[in-house]
Amino acid sequence: MKSGKVNLGWCRLKIRKFIRPRLCFVCYRYGHMARDCIDRDKIFCSRCGEEKHKAAECPNEMSCSNCKRLNLRLKEEVDIKHDVKSRLCESYLREIDFIREKIDYCKPVPKIQ
Ligand SMILES: [Zn+2]
Ligand SMILES: [Zn+2]
Ligand SMILES: [Zn+2]
Repeated sequence: MKSGKVNLGWCRLKIRKFIRPRLCFVCYRYGHMARDCIDRDKIFCSRCGEEKHKAAECPNEMSCSNCKRLNLRLKEEVDIKHDVKSRLCESYLREIDFIREKIDYCKPVPKIQ
């Protein structure tokens, strides 16, 4: 699972900052920014996570696309009736844990450069 090198420069940078997961405002997934999004050309709804319409025109009930995916992938039943940008979003909280784990993994930071 945890293979691959950890970029120490990156870790140091992150330790100094408050942990703030990157949320793509194109597809509303965590871990990348809009400019790196492979779905840059598409339109996703922040309200229900579906494609081809915006939140203002959403005909669906509010549901978090990240938590829907989490439920599917991990066969869990976390609450999905919240905004994808909610600070109480289970996916958001897990993303923070994930980042924090990475940071702990970097300690102690050796002196380089
Ligand atoms: Zn994206
Ligand atoms: Zn929608
Ligand atoms: Zn959520």
